Amino acid sequence: MTEREIRKAIVENCLKMNSTGLNQGTSGNLSARYKDVMIITPSGIAYEVLKPSDLATMPIGKNYGSWEGPLKPSTEWRFHLDIMIDRPDVGGIVHTHSTYATILSIAGKEIPACHYMIAAFGGPTIRCADYATFGTEELSANALKALEDRTGCILANHGMIATGANVAKAMWLAVELETIAKQYYQSLLIGGPNLLSNEEIANVKERFKGYGLQDKKPANSSRKTKAAAKPRAKAQAKPGAKARAKPSAKAQVKPRAKIQAKPRTKPKAKKRA
Ligand SMILES: [Zn+2]
Repeated sequence: MTEREIRKAIVENCLKMNSTGLNQGTSGNLSARYKDVMIITPSGIAYEVLKPSDLATMPIGKNYGSWEGPLKPSTEWRFHLDIMIDRPDVGGIVHTHSTYATILSIAGKEIPACHYMIAAFGGPTIRCADYATFGTEELSANALKALEDRTGCILANHGMIATGANVAKAMWLAVELETIAKQYYQSLLIGGPNLLSNEEIANVKERFKGYGLQDKKPANSSRKTKAAAKPRAKAQAKPGAKARAKPSAKAQVKPRAKIQAKPRTKPKAKKRA
């Protein structure tokens, strides 16, 4: 992707963060890697009026903390930058104070293996980083610790971080994080979840290879899409997965819009009824 395309993708995903309800006020911020630079949303501007040229850039790995752009980078730039430095695999980061992830963070609860989708986060838990004041080195260090071997975490009394190979994938994971946070929270209201074993999460993680928000492929790639859908159909055998396998398979074909809360809420209601 060119720098221009990345800037455009950031703005598009900012608007998506609003439309999915993930963003609360102006609390969310996004960043993406472009070569040895991080492009990040500026602080204090409504996403509706944000332009690609408004984004700030910060060098990764040298002149730490310096920036360029018409507006100051997000006040949360430090953990964005530290994640980019520490995790070369990360090309996009989403940070938001989405409601359910934040509720769990306020209660200091990490998310356990209550749903197989947790495997998309790299392991059987989504950790809760210890509290530290926003924008501080301490918060950044706590976040990095919680993100060890993980693609997302929640931040105590604050919000969440989701990462990905690019900003669209990070946004996809942020929606997944908020969804699983909501599901876990609501399961606590009806007696608590039945948790999946670490072995099962490792098994699902293996099956997930290549799963997630897919890059667009040429038209003849349908075989690959089918093959990718197959393992998830098998996952039906696992407890709790049955009702969800179908919407997920759909989401695989139309990666962008449909992965969010909608498919999830229905089966949940069904299960309870
Ligand atoms: Zn924040």
